[in-house]
Amino acid sequence: MSVLVSLDPSLRDSVNLQSHQNISRCYDCDKCTAGCPVAYAMEYGPHRILQMVRFGMKETALASRDIWLCAGCETCGTRCPNDVDIAHVMDALRQMAVREDIRNPANDIANFHRVYVMLIKLFGRMHEASLMGALKLLTRDFVSDMDAGVKLVAKGKIPILPERIKGAGEVRRVLKGP
Ligand code: SF4
Ligand code: SF4
Repeated sequence: MSVLVSLDPSLRDSVNLQSHQNISRCYDCDKCTAGCPVAYAMEYGPHRILQMVRFGMKETALASRDIWLCAGCETCGTRCPNDVDIAHVMDALRQMAVREDIRNPANDIANFHRVYVMLIKLFGRMHEASLMGALKLLTRDFVSDMDAGVKLVAKGKIPILPERIKGAGEVRRVLKGP
């Protein structure tokens, strides 16, 4: 049985533009995946994600959990003989997936990302109690980790009410991009 995959020939240029990289320089040596500390948990690994972007396999790349498992550690970019900063490429793919509301098997990480960015835009800084509350609502998992959260609040490690920093508007502008 053949499986049809729709291709988007503009994907490579869009990703290059957003990540400020030139992924055409990649010659598939696999050094990035060999050094990636989370490749063991990925479906494809960074070098195959780059292949997908070069071939225009947008749906597969954006729906892959690999782009959310990437920890942005930069190990791959350091090992790449062609100076491709794959962490930036992964970041661009995550932003595309969020914009296009593409869900993936690592949806918890994507939800965390969405809520995290939303709170930073609101307050200019993180507020852990809001983060926990919003994630509980999104995931409808009201029980797990609750003990730890309550203890941290009780010990004063997490403030109950959020504080907005003075430059919150500037932080919002930075996150919005040019
Ligand atoms: S930046 Fe991401 S893809 Fe690259 S080595 Fe680190 S975790 Fe792996
Ligand atoms: S290390 Fe660089 S050249 Fe090699 S596969 Fe990864 S991105 Fe491509």
